Amino acid sequence: MCDYKKIVESQKDFFNSNATKDIKFRKEQLRKFLQVLKANEEKMYDAIYADFRKSSYETYETELAILYAEIKHSVKKVRSWSRPKRVAANLANLPGSSFIMPEPLGTSLVIGAWNYPFLLSMQPVVSAIAAGNTVIMKPSELAMNTSNVMAKMINDNFDSHFFHVIEGGVEETTALLMEPFDKIFYTGNPNVGKIIMRAASEHLTPVTLELGGKSPAIITKGANLKMTATRIVWGKFLNGGQTCVAPDYLLVEKGMKEPLIDAIKKRIKKVHGDDPQQSEAFVRIINPRHFKRLTALLDEKKIIVGGETDEKDLYIAPTLMDNVTWDDDVMQEEIFGPILPVLEYENIEDAIAQIKERPKPLALYLFTNSKSIEKKVFREVSFGGGALNDTIMHLANPNLPFGGVGNSGMGNYHGKFGFDTFSHKKAILKKATWFEPWVKYPPFTEGKLKILKKLL
Ligand code: NAD
Repeated sequence: MCDYKKIVESQKDFFNSNATKDIKFRKEQLRKFLQVLKANEEKMYDAIYADFRKSSYETYETELAILYAEIKHSVKKVRSWSRPKRVAANLANLPGSSFIMPEPLGTSLVIGAWNYPFLLSMQPVVSAIAAGNTVIMKPSELAMNTSNVMAKMINDNFDSHFFHVIEGGVEETTALLMEPFDKIFYTGNPNVGKIIMRAASEHLTPVTLELGGKSPAIITKGANLKMTATRIVWGKFLNGGQTCVAPDYLLVEKGMKEPLIDAIKKRIKKVHGDDPQQSEAFVRIINPRHFKRLTALLDEKKIIVGGETDEKDLYIAPTLMDNVTWDDDVMQEEIFGPILPVLEYENIEDAIAQIKERPKPLALYLFTNSKSIEKKVFREVSFGGGALNDTIMHLANPNLPFGGVGNSGMGNYHGKFGFDTFSHKKAILKKATWFEPWVKYPPFTEGKLKILKKLL
C-alpha cells in the first residue's frame, strides 16, 4: 500500500500554495485532461472490452462523449461560475454591498463505481478541478482493466500533488478514508455509502453520495407503444442492465401490459437478434459474483422472454419476467442486470402508492400522453431525477443536476451543479466606513429600541 498520508499532505501543501485558485490553471488542467483522455482513447476501448465485452461504439456513446462534453462545458463556463456574485444588501447592512464568493474546498477524494468506470470516476474529477480542488481518485477494483488504464494515464501525466489515481479495493479505500479530506464524492451502493459517511464524520468532511435503488418506469394506457418499447429496451439493456438509472421494473396500467410486452419482445429481437449472446451490442456481467446474484433472481415460471445464461461467458440474456409481485426475490433489491420484471397496476394512485411505500428511487420514468397524470406523478413522487417518455437521457444534459434523494443519494453534480458541489460559498459583506447605526451599541434605551425595531 502506498503512503497515502504523504500524497494527501503534498496535495494540501499544493492547495495552500493557491495555484489552483487561478482560473487559467484550472482551464489548462482541464484541457490537458481532455488531451490525455483522447490520446488514450484506444486503450480505454480495449480496457472496457476486457472488463465488459462492450463495443467501442457503446463506450463512446455512454462514457467518453459525455465526459468530453463535460470538460468542454466546464472550460467554457468556469470563469463565470467562479466569479463572486453580488446579491442584494439588507437595511441593517447599509451602506455596503454583499457578495457570494465560491471557493474550492481543498483536497478531494473521488471514489468511483465499476459500471461506467471512466465516466463515473472522471466526471466528478472534472467538477473538482473546475472548482479549484486537488483530487485523489480511487476507481472501483471490480473493473480492473479500466482501473489500470486510468491509473497509468493520469499518474503518467499529472503531478501527484494535484491529481492522482490510487487503485485498490476495500482495504485501500478504508485506509484512504482515514485521511482528513476536505470533500469526499462517492458513487456506489447505499450500504457502502453509509460506511463512507461514517468515516467522513470523523473529520466533518462534506460528502456527496451518488447511490442507487429500484427505479420504476410507469406506463399508462395511451402511451406511444413503439417509442415506449424502444426507449425502455435501450435504457434497461444498455451496459447489460448495469446502469444506476436503468428502469429497474415496469409498472404497467391494466390493459396495456400485453401490447407493451409484445412491443418489447419485438424490439429486443430487432436490436439484439434471435441470439443476443452473439450480438456485438450486448454487454456481459462484470464478474462471477454478480452473475450468481443475478441468476438467483430468475424465476423460471415467470420468464416470458430470455432467461438463458452462460456462466463461462458471464452472459445473461435480456430477460422479461411477467406476473411479478413485490414478494418475489427480484423485487427485494436493485437488480443491476438485464432482468426486467413487469408488474400491473389498476389506477395511477395505486402505482404511486406502491412507489412511495419504498425508498426514494434514483430515477423515475413515466410513459404517458396524459398531462394530468404527468403533473400528478412528478408532483407527488420524490425521486432523484427522471424523464417523461424517455429513459436515462436526463443525465446527458449538463444544465440539469444529477443525483439521488433519500436512500438514492445526497448532493448532485454535472455542469454548474458539480462546480457547486466542490465549492464552498463564502459570504462577504463589504461595509462603507462613513456611517454607523449607533443604536446597536449600549447603553440600551427605550428610544434606541424603537429605532432598532423599525430597522430590523
Ligand atoms: P463498487 O463495488 O464498485 O463500489 C463502489 C466503490 O466503493 C468502489 O470504489 C469500492 O472499492 C468501494 N467500496 C466497496 N466496499 C467498500 C467498503 N466496505 N469500504 C470502503 N469502500 C468500499 O460498486 P457497487 O456498489 O457494486 O455499485 C453498484 C451500486 O452503485 C448500485 O446500487 C448502483 O445503482 C450504484 N450506482 C450509482 C450511481 C449514481 O450515479 N448514482 C452510478 C453507478 C452506480
